[in-house]
Amino acid sequence: MADTIFSKIINREIDADIVYEDDQCLAFRDVNPQAPLHLLLIPKKPIEKLADAGADDQALLGHLMLKAGDIARAEGYGEAFRLVTNNGANVGQSVFHLHLHILAGRSFEWPPG
Ligand code: C5P
Repeated sequence: MADTIFSKIINREIDADIVYEDDQCLAFRDVNPQAPLHLLLIPKKPIEKLADAGADDQALLGHLMLKAGDIARAEGYGEAFRLVTNNGANVGQSVFHLHLHILAGRSFEWPPG
């Protein structure tokens, strides 16, 4: 997988406002926030998009989901947040390193646009 801006954030080659890190993942504030809380949670393992994850990634994906809840809670939004992952350019993915958007702090439309 080619280097992306997110691998550069993991490697500290470019700055980001990091709010959480462990051996498997990193969360930082989105530079173009779409809600009062807008974080990106990424695995350190370079996976382009959710559909590219395999059976070997089951524990990692579970870890990301659990951490998303923990991080939202730590930010004060544990009871009301939205998780989004854009899988592919046609649905809005612009950075090809798997990421979960954690959004909270305003009302959200359903169905999403
Ligand atoms: O789902 P998608 O790939 O479009 O999301 C990429 C996200 O990465 C965007 O919300 C964009 O604002 C964010 N971004 C960032 N920091 C960068 C480059 C992009 O937070 N340096």
